[in-house]
Parts: sequence; C-alpha cells; structure tokens
Amino acid sequence: MGSPPVSGKVLVIGLGPGSDAQVTPEALAAAGEASDFLGYKPYIDRLSLRPDQTAHASDNREELARARHALELAAEGKTVAVVSGGDPGVFAMAAAVCEAIEHGPAAWRELELRVVPGVTAMLAVAARIGAPLGHDFCAISLSDNLKPWELIERRLRLAAQAGFVMAFYNPISRARTWQLGRAFEILREELPASVPVVFGRAAGRADERMAVTPLGEARAEQADMATCVIVGSPETRIIERPGLDALVYSPRFARPSA
Ligand code: SAH
Repeated sequence: MGSPPVSGKVLVIGLGPGSDAQVTPEALAAAGEASDFLGYKPYIDRLSLRPDQTAHASDNREELARARHALELAAEGKTVAVVSGGDPGVFAMAAAVCEAIEHGPAAWRELELRVVPGVTAMLAVAARIGAPLGHDFCAISLSDNLKPWELIERRLRLAAQAGFVMAFYNPISRARTWQLGRAFEILREELPASVPVVFGRAAGRADERMAVTPLGEARAEQADMATCVIVGSPETRIIERPGLDALVYSPRFARPSA
C-alpha cells in the first residue's frame, strides 16, 4: 500500500502595493480558499478573514522558516496562504517556498503549490510618474542580507553601463543606512548627473509620495523602507507640464550607441 495522497496546498499570494483596488480578483479568490494564513501582519490585516480562517499573524519568522511552516501545515492537509506585498515572486516569499521544497522532505514535492501574482512596487511607482520602465530595465534589491555588497556594486556598474533603467527595492533600513548613498556614488561615476531618479514612496497607500531628483542631487535621505527608487537611463526624459506633475519616461527606442 502506498502512502495516502497529500491533499494540502500552499497558495503564495501577492496583495499588490497597498490599495484594495490593486489587489487582483485572483488573489482575493485564492485567499478565500485558504484555512491558514502566514505572513507579515499588516498584509494579513488587509484581508478580512472569516471566523473559520486562522491568521498565524504573530509569525514574524525569517522567510525560510515561515516557508517551512507553511509546507508543514499543508502536509497536514491544510490550505495555507502565504501572503506578500506586491508580487510574491519579487524579493518575497515565493522563492523561499521553492527553496524549502527543494531542500525539504520528498512529500513536500507532492503538495499543490500555486503562486498568485500581484502588482509589484516598481510597476505601481512607474505608473504614477509616467513610463520610466518603458524601455529595458532591471530590478535590484540593495539589501546585502542575502548577497555580498561587492556583488551589488558590480551589478550596479554593469547595469548602468548596459543602459538599463534600474528599480531598487529595499533601498535602506534602520540596519542598512549607507547602501543607497553608496549606490548613488557609484552611479554618478557611470551616468550623467542629469539622469532622473524617482523616489516612489508607499505607492497606492494613503501616505504615498512621489519625488523626482536628478542623479547629481539624489540623496539617500529621500528614501525610506517603503520607497522604491527608479534610476533612469541616459535616455530617460522628463516632460514638464504646466499645473500638472512632470512625466518621467523612457522612450521605446534606443540609439545604437546607447
Ligand atoms: N514583493 C514586494 C517587494 C518586497 S521587498 C513587491 O513586489 O513589491 C520590500 C521593498 O519593496 C521595500 O523596501 C520597497 O523598496 C518596495 N515596496 C514595497 N511596497 C511598496 C510601495 N507600496 N511603494 C513603494 N515601494 C514599495
């Protein structure tokens, strides 16, 4: 006799950057299926759970431990929602769950896993300001918790040289105070001082704030933990508009030399 089929599942759900309007119907439907919720409490609080749904809200474990916890509950037959802000595949829980499956017990590979995408921060910020990601771009986390800072510096330089627009996640935190300033220093060596830098804070939330500064004047203090910083390429342009916010956009075409 074989072992009974594993019935539990893990739903890794992205809740978008902040506003209810940016939560997808698919994310809401997935949340409706789950019995158990794991994730950072403010995200779980954004879902109005039913009395039969359990929030493991005090769960502020490290990501891999949280992923394992989710898989353990699913292996008991539960339908577990792991919630992330933005998209769960962008510097968030989906990769941690995959990592836990790769290195965990064989039975975890039989569990159903569904990753439900969400609007990631850089898209929400970009949409507010025009089209800074209208041409080739990359996303870089400035957190050196999971990779060495030297690697981040190398990627910054190469991305600047390659002409990519860059979106920075995790630009700064209480424990990581100098990284963003250093990133600007490196980029000032590689890019014109006029390149627009967008500081998009708390996109989609009540305390949203957008600011645009030329790279030559960009300062780390303009960002906090809730900010996604978009650094333009030399092609990125600003259109001033009377009585309206300026538009920042990256043209769809690039010159051969760019
Ligand atoms: N999974 C998330 C990112 C998690 S990393 C997503 O896809 O958006 C956390 C970083 O995301 C923050 O440090 C910040 O850089 C960015 N961020 C998250 N929500 C944001 C928002 N509403 N506005 C601007 N940046 C945000």
